[in-house]
Amino acid sequence: MRPRIGIACSTMDEVEGRGVRRQHVPEPYVARVVEAGGLPVLLPVVDPALVGDLLGLVDGLLVIGGDDVDPAAYDAVPHPELGPVDPARDRFEVALVRAAAAADVPTLGICRGVQVMNVALGGTLIQHVPAEVEGALVHGGRYDVCHEVAVVPGSRLARVLDTTTVAVNSHHHQAIARPAPSLVVTARSSDGVVEAAEDPTRRLLLGVQWHPERMATADSTRRLFGVLVAEAARGAAAARR
Ligand code: MN
Repeated sequence: MRPRIGIACSTMDEVEGRGVRRQHVPEPYVARVVEAGGLPVLLPVVDPALVGDLLGLVDGLLVIGGDDVDPAAYDAVPHPELGPVDPARDRFEVALVRAAAAADVPTLGICRGVQVMNVALGGTLIQHVPAEVEGALVHGGRYDVCHEVAVVPGSRLARVLDTTTVAVNSHHHQAIARPAPSLVVTARSSDGVVEAAEDPTRRLLLGVQWHPERMATADSTRRLFGVLVAEAARGAAAARR
């Protein structure tokens, strides 16, 4: 059986004037999990009390992109350029990431996902990179290659990618500010913006600020989704023994 990769859903306010919120996952995440040999399992945003039961259904976890994290989650006041927030999704994902870290469930965070990982584990965010980072590169709106990132040699990310320089897309206006105590910054762009972080003590607790799921044919994408599925498979096999 394929290792089961839980994908935490994004939320969307009602779009047809009927007051019905929606939960969804952009297809590229699903497609990349399948290509890597995993079985995608969509995890809905529900009461955070249910995250333990949800994690029991899966062997690995993917925390995906989306809107901004409510700065109240890290005791900051909203910046004027803060985008839309969904505190219910934040609370759910924060609980999910904490439970996954505690249980050492292999976890990959993408874009908002790495930001949620950082907030869940006690870090803070830059709310608007263009306003808060002097000489910031353009990090917005580019799903084709946008900038390079320098990866810390010897880090898990460097070992996964088998390189210390990777060209990535960029579609974010927020980024990690103060890393969580358990996280190590393992990649930055040339303007100093954090582009990846990881907890080296966990089987896999790694997040990237770019969107590998939108770089379908990139070697770095194949490697990132590959390590998530491989670690999930190892955990699933160990649980069966
Ligand atoms: Mn970027």
